[in-house]
Amino acid sequence: MTAASHDTVESVLTSLIRDVPDFPKPGIVFKDITPLLEDAAGFRACIEALAARVSPHRPDALVAIESRGFIFGAPLALHLGLPLIVVRKPGKLPRATESVAYQLEYGEDRLEVHADAIRAGHRYALVDDVLATGGTAEAVTSLITRLGGQMACAAFPLELGFLGGRARLAGAVTESLVRYG
Ligand code: AMP
Repeated sequence: MTAASHDTVESVLTSLIRDVPDFPKPGIVFKDITPLLEDAAGFRACIEALAARVSPHRPDALVAIESRGFIFGAPLALHLGLPLIVVRKPGKLPRATESVAYQLEYGEDRLEVHADAIRAGHRYALVDDVLATGGTAEAVTSLITRLGGQMACAAFPLELGFLGGRARLAGAVTESLVRYG
């Protein structure tokens, strides 16, 4: 399916996101963004809509979360003319890092950012593909604020509203283009 100019961005996204039941494990309905990425007009509409939501919050830079956050964060940063800061899985960044641990369903995981990438008093827009339980975004929010940064907003193309992730980002304005449940 190809995005047409008269469609709303919500209908474009909804039509280009594929539900994959029981992936990666039974009971999870995985939101597959690859059809959106394969549709240039739809992907452009998504980035432009995210830019329109993020811009009023006047961020100084974007903070994208590995790995699918990079897919949206990079074009969004270019579109807005803003620096892009990457939050990566452990051991990937070459210079001194600050890291944060967060709980997974089983065990815990860590994310890292270059310690000098976040500047005291600057405003940051966090970007990821899906807001689910909010655990990942909450961890990155704490990383940003611990380094003295301020949250301008957190932005996601998709939000699984029924999981209540937004409540875990209580301190940050949360923007999503399509909210399920
Ligand atoms: P969470 O920490 O629960 O908000 O989940 C964060 C990450 O898990 C997001 O970056 C998504 O990439 C991924 N994720 C969680 N649930 C889903 C889902 N149902 N479909 C696709 N990705 C998901």
